[in-house]
Amino acid sequence: MATAEQAQPVDVAANLAAVRARIAEACREAGRDPAEVTLIAVAKAQPLARIEAALAAGQRVFGENYVQEAAARWPELRERFPGVELHLIGALQTNKARDAVRLFDVIQTVDRPKLAAALAREMDRQGRRLPVFVEVNTGGEPQKAGVLPERADAFIEACRRDYGLEVVGLMAIPPLEEDVALHAALLDRIARRNGLSALSIGMSHDFEVAIRFGATHVRVGTAIFGPRPPKRPQPPPASGSTSS
Ligand SMILES: *Cc1c(COP(=O)(O)O)cnc(C)c1O
Repeated sequence: MATAEQAQPVDVAANLAAVRARIAEACREAGRDPAEVTLIAVAKAQPLARIEAALAAGQRVFGENYVQEAAARWPELRERFPGVELHLIGALQTNKARDAVRLFDVIQTVDRPKLAAALAREMDRQGRRLPVFVEVNTGGEPQKAGVLPERADAFIEACRRDYGLEVVGLMAIPPLEEDVALHAALLDRIARRNGLSALSIGMSHDFEVAIRFGATHVRVGTAIFGPRPPKRPQPPPASGSTSS
């Protein structure tokens, strides 16, 4: 049964080199220093072998969407590959703040006071101050995570003043069908007036445009690792479990 799930072979090292070359070229065209742009390899739902291949090729900055998935593999990978920097780029439930602060180096998805408070509490408890990004819902999409653009200034201020979080930048996941340029430009305006320099925007299909419009962190998954294998059906949750 398990053999049917073998993932297609992917040349991760070659893909990684190609993405790095494209980033360098986009920077050159934009008159930017490639050292200003951090490539975050998005590992969510990817087989371990592909992540190991990226690590073996020298990649050290990774993004994960799910706390549980990160917990299952990164503690062990960190022992084998020193110098890993792990970013949480998926929605975070407040009841997972403890694990998130323990497992990650940067939290990119701070978007509400309750979460900011939970993270601040955990950082104090664990004596581990992590830099965070505030996620902005630049498309104003009702179903999406992120603080609305018109509330971003007040929320960033609250993160700093009320919760003592070290806010270093802004993150956005624009609507797929829209031009990333407008969203990067909006993110950049909000960042500038709040004294923030890091902009996490741009994915496999649009990272070059995002770089032209100021991205400092691009989050690239499929262009490095290939298509994500379909998820296995999840077992039903154990009775009595809760989520918020
Ligand atoms: C999955 C994901 C990415 C990477 O997407 P690709 O299209 O595979 O490059 C980037 N950012 C976030 C928040 C994601 O969830």
